[in-house]
Amino acid sequence: MNKEIGIESYYDVAVIGGGAVGLGYAIRVKRDNPELRVLVLEKAKEPRFKIGESTLSVTIENLLELGFTMPQLRRLFTVKSGLGFWYTDSATDELVSPVDVCNTEETFQVERRPMEIALTVLAQSCGVEIRSGTGVSTGRSLLGGPDPMLVMRGSPAAANQVHCRLVCDASGPASVLARSLGTHRKQKHINTNAYWSHFRKTASPRVPGWDAPMTQHICFPQGWFWFISLCSWESSPTPNLTAMIGALLNDRREEEDMPSREEWSSRFGCTHSPRVSIGVSPRSDLDYSPPGGARERFWHYVDAYPAIQEIMRYYEEVPDPYQGKPAYGYLKEIEHYSTSYAGEGFLSVGDAAFFVNPLFSKGLAFGMFCAKEAARATAGHLKDPERGDFATYDRLLHSVYRALSMENEALYRSWASPAGFEQVLMAKLAGALREVRNRAESLVHEDVPYRLLEPRHAKVFADVVELTGDDGSGRADRSPQIEAVTARYLEELRTEPETIEARLGRFLTHYDDNLVRHENAAEVAQPGVFTAVACPDCRQAVNATLGRCPACGQDMDPCLTSSPVNDAAEGEAQDEP
Ligand SMILES: Cc1cc2nc3c(=O)[nH]c(=O)nc-3n(C[C@H](O)[C@H](O)[C@H](O)COP(=O)(O)OP(=O)(O)OC[C@H]3O[C@@H](n4cnc5c(N)ncnc54)[C@H](O)[C@@H]3O)c2cc1C
Repeated sequence: MNKEIGIESYYDVAVIGGGAVGLGYAIRVKRDNPELRVLVLEKAKEPRFKIGESTLSVTIENLLELGFTMPQLRRLFTVKSGLGFWYTDSATDELVSPVDVCNTEETFQVERRPMEIALTVLAQSCGVEIRSGTGVSTGRSLLGGPDPMLVMRGSPAAANQVHCRLVCDASGPASVLARSLGTHRKQKHINTNAYWSHFRKTASPRVPGWDAPMTQHICFPQGWFWFISLCSWESSPTPNLTAMIGALLNDRREEEDMPSREEWSSRFGCTHSPRVSIGVSPRSDLDYSPPGGARERFWHYVDAYPAIQEIMRYYEEVPDPYQGKPAYGYLKEIEHYSTSYAGEGFLSVGDAAFFVNPLFSKGLAFGMFCAKEAARATAGHLKDPERGDFATYDRLLHSVYRALSMENEALYRSWASPAGFEQVLMAKLAGALREVRNRAESLVHEDVPYRLLEPRHAKVFADVVELTGDDGSGRADRSPQIEAVTARYLEELRTEPETIEARLGRFLTHYDDNLVRHENAAEVAQPGVFTAVACPDCRQAVNATLGRCPACGQDMDPCLTSSPVNDAAEGEAQDEP
């Protein structure tokens, strides 16, 4: 350390950005290396609304490793048992070809503000220093070389400098480090936009399977809509919510002894209500929505598709959903990457490193996976930079980004017809599901999630992109050619011992163990690994093995409980609008 620099401004690791991924990284580095000084610089004064609420099993595994318990997660968030995919077109008022993955594991739909408050509390409790309301000015900082130095925005020159051995960029879509080093790139093939808001469900649309506790996706030729049911704490003042979450995280009691969500919230003066995050993500090159704000653009897509228009009759806007921020959010050309993810004195994680379209809820899952790998690489690099941990990390992120981007592009390009939609989706699901089953049984935790990099799996999507790549309109139906690629892959998968053993039909409502579709789901119904049932009192989805509802505290008398919640409505929803 340079003698001129006071110890108070010198850190081993400085993290730019205190979102979920930056905090996850900081917790891991500090917990595994208590001797290191770790600082997080976050420009927002306190965690506020962020988009991105559906989680996968990898996200939950990470949250548990970072210090949450399942009873705590059940108090804060809404249970989710899978992902549902539907298809529609402007020519029909029906949702066709439902494909879903269900009954795999207990995961959650997470509102981001409480999650980030909780991660902040966990980070502080293990010795990470956090400075909120402190934006890093990259123009005045020294980055990407030995002896990095960070300057805080708005502060007089030397007064607020931080020196460190290593900077981790976790600044999300701002990607401050990549932009400052000139390595930031937008994806050029198929990029996507997004428009969203929060809604209240007024009644059940009565589409069989729609009300199941899943993230619902409706795909159409230009893009897709998401529907994510949340327990929203947005109306709770931050000091109350922070006090409640702090006390909850200190409470390590087992499920049966843990007070319910209602008890926690009334004890700390917090309020919560059911909400649904709904958004649309069209291809940027086909986004012909009219000029205007995000609201006009969102409703343009609702109006263009009669089946979506029908579903939206059962949802109403929430007034002032994000406490003074605009009611509709938007982002343009969201996919980006960097030509370098680690180098002398720096590495990047989460959305700061790269971001692909949020289809399949992979943002948090892969962000947290990368944070874990980055923490490992950091420890190795700080011990001996010659070991090459950063080069390994850099290569890993390049491969993960390429594979995720290719999968996304293949999916978007296949949506010209319901057949193409189903073929590529099933290739993705069948390839990944064998591992989902292993994860559900706690067998896989160390590899790149969901067989993403398996060459055979990756090649299917590369082939689909090649077949469909010249169709700029998104309209040409290439499903016969696509099927030639995906059918071969599915044929190989279905005869492999691992697939046979996994009994994938357990996780797919309309498919049997041989991956053959049955329109009548009852013909192929079988118990999965996880089942959610509706609480007889509050109607929230509850893990069927629990004796009491974690939300309201009601006894889950098996006689009173309706069997699998394919139709658990959120709270106050009525039958007709
Ligand atoms: C439309 C949409 C829908 C999505 N849906 C899902 C989903 O359902 N499931 C899912 O898993 N993921 C989803 N995602 C992705 C998910 O939101 C992100 O992957 C996740 O937020 C990444 O977390 P992060 O910590 O990397 O970045 P962020 O959460 O963006 O955190 C970055 C932090 O850095 C701070 N910061 C920025 N600049 C500076 C600076 N100069 N100095 C200091 N601090 C700074 C910011 O204030 C912010 O708090 C979605 C994304 C979008 C766009």
